[in-house]
Amino acid sequence: VTGWIARHGTYAGYGAHARADERPCDACYRAKERYDARRRAAPAHVRACRLRARAQHAALGRLRALNPELYRRFYEEEKRRLEDEST
Ligand SMILES: [Zn+2]
Repeated sequence: VTGWIARHGTYAGYGAHARADERPCDACYRAKERYDARRRAAPAHVRACRLRARAQHAALGRLRALNPELYRRFYEEEKRRLEDEST
């Protein structure tokens, strides 16, 4: 793989294989299985929170596509506000 940065035997390694459109090595495949099992084992409230976050992210993406200028304006406003708060 060219430009390989992720380590084998990690979830990031699995993702790198996938992005390079290649079959993951055994170590990365096992890491992915461990990652999935751990996510499935998360408590119900954690899974519910994760689902809400994904829904919010998807909805925001759709709104942004609908009105990029307004999204950009709100984003810059909120960013400035947060930067002001933290100084
Ligand atoms: Zn690998």
